[in-house]
Amino acid sequence: MNVLVTGGAGYIGSHTCVELLDQGFGVVVIDNLVNSSAKAIERIEQITGKHVDFYQEDVRNRAALDRIFEKHDIGCVIHFAGLKAVGESVHMPLEYYDNNLFSTVRLCEAMRDHGVRDIVFSSSATVYSSENPIPWKETYITGNCTSPYGWTKYMSEQILRDTTKAVDDFSVSLLRYFNPIGAHSSGLIGEDPRGIPNNLMPFISQVAIGRRDHLNIFGNDYDTPDGTCVRDYIHVVDLARGHVAAIDYMKKHRGESVFNLGTGMGYSVLDMVKAFERVTGVKIPYEIAPRRPGDLPAFYANPDKSAKLLNWHAQYNLDDMCRDTWAWQSKNPMGYGEE
Ligand code: NAD
Ligand code: UDP
Repeated sequence: MNVLVTGGAGYIGSHTCVELLDQGFGVVVIDNLVNSSAKAIERIEQITGKHVDFYQEDVRNRAALDRIFEKHDIGCVIHFAGLKAVGESVHMPLEYYDNNLFSTVRLCEAMRDHGVRDIVFSSSATVYSSENPIPWKETYITGNCTSPYGWTKYMSEQILRDTTKAVDDFSVSLLRYFNPIGAHSSGLIGEDPRGIPNNLMPFISQVAIGRRDHLNIFGNDYDTPDGTCVRDYIHVVDLARGHVAAIDYMKKHRGESVFNLGTGMGYSVLDMVKAFERVTGVKIPYEIAPRRPGDLPAFYANPDKSAKLLNWHAQYNLDDMCRDTWAWQSKNPMGYGEE
């Protein structure tokens, strides 16, 4: 079966392409490269020894989608394409709503018109309302999002749910990711943020490689064991495998499904710094900085539903995540910008 992967040149998309190809799926990628490099596609092919059909196009371009659906026999879509910087979305809400919502709408229209019925969607833990007790379960309340980015995920989920009700046999698996980090163990693909990284792990690894002086830890006075924020970090390869499990699940379970993809373990910012130092032997200088607006003190997943219904479990631990992040960063100090 061929899978159309939107945003397949990006961080999570590229790792998912590798897992799909390794498991015998054909892969067609559409990505406009707004936040990625075509080199990722070459690297996917290098790792797997298999070909990827790549289209550098915008998912909002309906004519491009029509051409792709006509040319390839697509059995399923995985929709990663989107803008994802929380802080940027506060300053550029219209660009985020335009990109993230219209890409979802155009894709659903094209799927409806071309008879493609299965879609896996990259949602996020950010859709959960902060009032929920932790760990978060799929049944908990969503909404009250704290950024336009979060609202685009919330609204995209609704667009997909409504399409599932309206289009015969349409099925969606909404995957709510926690904090993906790490890289493929080959060190050939990984996360390559443009500009100053917003997320913790890319920032730590750029300090380690000497691109940044020190890490700013945003707040150490939270009500958590060491005062720094707690998150559920998940190896990107585990996350990628969750998508393959969701495709299998949809074969037998039509309609809407929603799954958390997290480990169920919470680690603090200081835990992450210490683990990275221990695994890599590289010191990470840090300073305590003011809290980052909008940060929640702690959240992590209850992954029981994914374990039970998808038969999916995160297999990699924090040491694996640190080791593989460092393999990627040390082999590619400037990401895909340097061979
Ligand atoms: P990424 O930026 O590396 O990948 C997204 C890809 O989509 C990029 O290659 C980008 O060029 C492409 N893209 C964006 N808009 C497009 C458009 N209109 N048409 C075609 N291509 C387009 O991000 P990622 O970390 O791999 O995230 C993938 C998905 O997972 C995103 O939807 C993101 O919101 C979601 N997600 C990510 C995280 C995370 O922490 N990384 C957490 C939860 C959810
Ligand atoms: N963080 C930090 N310094 C950084 C980036 C992040 O202290 O340079 C903290 C941030 O405040 C949060 C945690 O690391 O508590 C994870 O942040 P990230 O942006 O990676 O994930 P999110 O907050 O979106 O879950």
